[in-house]
Amino acid sequence: MHYDDASHMHPIRSSGRYPLRPISPLWLSLLLFCLPLLASLPISQLLGGPLAHQLLQDKKMEVETALAERHRLLDNNIRHQLTRFQFDCGRQDMTLLRDPRYYNSHIRIQGILLAAGGGCSSLGLDLPFTPAELPPYANQEQFGIAATQARFHTEQELVAYYRTGGNIVYWVLNNSWSHALLQTPCSNCFYLEFGQQQPGASSPIFPRGDSSIKQEEGSQSLSFFDPNQEIRQTLWAGRALEHYAQQQARHYGLWLGAAVGTLLVAAYWGLRNYRRSLKGLLQAGLARREFVPFYQPVIDSRSQQVVGFEALLRWQRGGGLIPPGAFIDYAEEQQLILPMTSQLLERVIADLPRLAPGQWVSVNIVAAHLEHPHLRNLLLQHGWPSPAQLTFELTERKPITDIKTAVIEITALQQQGYHFKLDDFGTGYGGFAYLQRLGIRQIKIDKMFVDTIGTDDLKRSVLDATIAFGRESGMEMIAEGVERQEQVDYLQQHGVHLIQGYVYAPPMALTKLKIWLLAWYQNHTSER
Ligand code: C2E
Ligand code: CA
Ligand code: CA
Repeated sequence: MHYDDASHMHPIRSSGRYPLRPISPLWLSLLLFCLPLLASLPISQLLGGPLAHQLLQDKKMEVETALAERHRLLDNNIRHQLTRFQFDCGRQDMTLLRDPRYYNSHIRIQGILLAAGGGCSSLGLDLPFTPAELPPYANQEQFGIAATQARFHTEQELVAYYRTGGNIVYWVLNNSWSHALLQTPCSNCFYLEFGQQQPGASSPIFPRGDSSIKQEEGSQSLSFFDPNQEIRQTLWAGRALEHYAQQQARHYGLWLGAAVGTLLVAAYWGLRNYRRSLKGLLQAGLARREFVPFYQPVIDSRSQQVVGFEALLRWQRGGGLIPPGAFIDYAEEQQLILPMTSQLLERVIADLPRLAPGQWVSVNIVAAHLEHPHLRNLLLQHGWPSPAQLTFELTERKPITDIKTAVIEITALQQQGYHFKLDDFGTGYGGFAYLQRLGIRQIKIDKMFVDTIGTDDLKRSVLDATIAFGRESGMEMIAEGVERQEQVDYLQQHGVHLIQGYVYAPPMALTKLKIWLLAWYQNHTSER
């Protein structure tokens, strides 16, 4: 690789600092994976509160669902059982009280208190309480709620009753479901209180779960009613639930963090692979302006004068030089050829003043430059550089799909004074037709034909025919890829004088070209 200036090699070290070492992909991957994990910790801390509230809401809904079910069952009992009682605690009454259809998970005991005194229940003739125990809740209303007495440290239970003709039918409600319900998703996280709706000093409160939660500072509560609007429920949650919620948030946060981290790592490697793919590399190369011209002289074999140069694209990458054969077709396919030519042209235009006034530089273009006003816009952008010094080579190796537009574009540029050469003449699509339609007056004879000189290859006749055609139609001809003096001589004998090839010089960077030109002129003026 050629550097104009040695300081290019160590741009940072030369200023006395050490270059920053880029972080390795593995470390970066680890970092990308761990960052979301670490970030999930404070975030889950923040989410603990709202999550606890949500869990409290969910629990309330569960309790409400259970209450609705109890309501439905009780309703069913009142409708079907009530009308069939004889109110004598006889066989039919006992059968009804013990009928499994009316005896279910929400009802612990059911019984009758007779107007005449005494009564019976699903337990037999024993009564869980006496009528006297029912008031003051059991006032004169037909339907009501009362409570059992708390005896022997048992919990009080709610009693629903129905009064008909002085008799009372009652159902001791089974609230054991609430115990199970309050133990999920964490134990001792909830406290449920229920009691009659009308608040009064005498209305008892039925506690379920850990009552200390209610006393906790900052505990939250939700109140709601059963479907009859008879019983008020208040559900409490405090530190235990918040702790549990935080734990859950941390748990899911870590999983989520791991998932996000994995995605980030995957995205990073995907991006890295893309950037390392040819397209990505080319785009990065364009952004870093790595595409530069090398110049190969074209020499008039009669006068040994350098008449012009072909600008050949080189990709200066990582200390090496990549020839266009490795990427130009792909760049064209990916529509990157336009910015590439633009970058090259910019450099060529900047270099033009450093060449002798009579010398031109020829830039390779493709059909796409002419099928839209791309080339025209490029030249306009650069203020129409001198057409005497800038020419273009259009290859016939690839077809022009929109020949009409190409004709319009070429004509417009020719009117500006620009010249076009048909490159690789004879190797591709309709060379003669292109010459005619595009009004091109210069052809480049491909190396493939030059190589046949001195051999009996069939293609030699193509070379001879091409030269004959060029001479007859007054075309300017440049022979490419000329490597030996023997070829120069043959071409000269046949009237082809403009020679480009290793026999004279390879493509070179401008600095090297200037040195080559100095030596060339020294040799060739002293010869004369
Ligand atoms: P091309 O336009 O036919 O260019 C001539 C090629 O022959 C160049 O190859 C040149 O280095 C090589 N060459 C010249 N003299 C000799 C010789 O005596 N012997 C041998 N063996 N080779 C010689 P390079 O530079 O690798 O370019 C290859 C092709 O890439 C070019 O063929 C051209 O079609 C394309 N190309 C180069 N630069 C550009 C550009 O800026 N734009 C476009 N669209 N295509 C370009
Ligand atoms: Ca060319
Ligand atoms: Ca060529």
